[in-house]
Amino acid sequence: MTGGRKDRFYYLAKARNYRSRAAFKLLELQDKFSVISPGNRVLDIGGSPGGWSQVAHEISGETVLCIDLNRVEEDEGIRYLKGDIMSPAFQDKLSMAMREMGVEKFECIISDAMSHTSGNWSRDHASSYLICEKVMEISLPLLAPGGNVVVKQFGGDLTPKFLSHWSGKFRFSRVTSVGATRRGSSEVYVIFKGFF
Ligand code: SAM
Repeated sequence: MTGGRKDRFYYLAKARNYRSRAAFKLLELQDKFSVISPGNRVLDIGGSPGGWSQVAHEISGETVLCIDLNRVEEDEGIRYLKGDIMSPAFQDKLSMAMREMGVEKFECIISDAMSHTSGNWSRDHASSYLICEKVMEISLPLLAPGGNVVVKQFGGDLTPKFLSHWSGKFRFSRVTSVGATRRGSSEVYVIFKGFF
């Protein structure tokens, strides 16, 4: 199990067999916003080592497609696709994996994707913003009508711009934070529900 410094969520994740403490972030978002429903097909972007995919599988009961640069252990609930979402070749790889799984659209797309942080607040915010824009560009053509998106961002000046860019495509949108986020982090989660 990964998780960096060992806090309460680290030990809770170990006790509940989650691969990362991040699992508790999605559980809290699910509690507040019901982003995943039973039977949903879920795409997990930037999902290694797979804590969010485990939670998504538990709720949906379906096999989750989990994309990451880094390896994700597969099991009956998680299918792994290695890929860089910023690369132009990625879209074709994703389409092929979806065909193999017999999936045309996803009802829910979740992204916890984040490149290595530099410690420079504005650089990290800008790179997070670019990843989030890419996640939305990839996601919208793959999202079923009525579908939901959850995307992690290092919040900052560009967050309102991000929200206003995409919120018109959804019935509901909200920027929120979760208790499992480490103190001092600017991490926020943007929730979009009800894709038009
Ligand atoms: N949600 C995961 C969990 O519950 O275990 C933790 C995700 S971790 C915070 C962020 C992940 O985003 C890393 O594994 C990283 O490799 C991935 N990532 C960052 N940039 C990416 C990119 N361009 N394409 C694919 N994955 C990326």
